[in-house]
Amino acid sequence: MVRGTKNRSLIGTTIVLSFLFPSVTNFTPAHATTPILESTTDPESTSVVVNKQRPLDPIQYIPQDLVAPQFGSLNANPYGRKLRKAASTASYKLAKAMKSAGKGRLVIQSAYRSFAEQKVVHDRQVAKYGIEAGEALAARPGFSEHQTGWAMDVSARGQGCQIRVCFGQTKAGIWLANNAYRYGFIVRYPNNATAITGYQYEPWHLRYVGKALARAMFDAQVHTLEQYFDLPAAPNY
Ligand SMILES: [Zn+2]
Repeated sequence: MVRGTKNRSLIGTTIVLSFLFPSVTNFTPAHATTPILESTTDPESTSVVVNKQRPLDPIQYIPQDLVAPQFGSLNANPYGRKLRKAASTASYKLAKAMKSAGKGRLVIQSAYRSFAEQKVVHDRQVAKYGIEAGEALAARPGFSEHQTGWAMDVSARGQGCQIRVCFGQTKAGIWLANNAYRYGFIVRYPNNATAITGYQYEPWHLRYVGKALARAMFDAQVHTLEQYFDLPAAPNY
């Protein structure tokens, strides 16, 4: 006797993907091939500007696509830090290019920090150095770029000056300042821009803004987001 094949009926599943598009305007810098989100206020946008005058909105914003970048043998993420997906992919390309250029091996020291984690960092720095010096180093929770998932603090193996101003003079620091834009990153707190950004020179703090905007800023030689988008300076809260 031949047993009949059991027919299984698959219940069709309708998957509805709904994407919530924030209200944005299209922005096409000279070298862009595709429009990018221009919103400087929506934390979903790669162009969002967060500073001491511009907290995240909502203030406890949490990105939904955080991933820990995987670097294989480059081993650039030994602490398992997380970034938003686009920044994560770009960080891999950046680390690979830096190594190929002979400028060293990138290490992500810090990347996404939640509101709660930023509160710990802020409280610690203020307790250690007092309110003024402490706040020059650490943002208040809700006011940190690290909370967007678009920013990372990096160092280079064996080159010293980890999270110090002298990182800008290392071969990695020099290469990053001149080439990170090719991968969509900017040195967010350049030298001599404290009155605009509210932060001291941080050659280690890279912010993902996407390739089009990073290139547009590089070509225009405008190094802060505040100046590029004609936003008020944010020296203080
Ligand atoms: Zn940072």
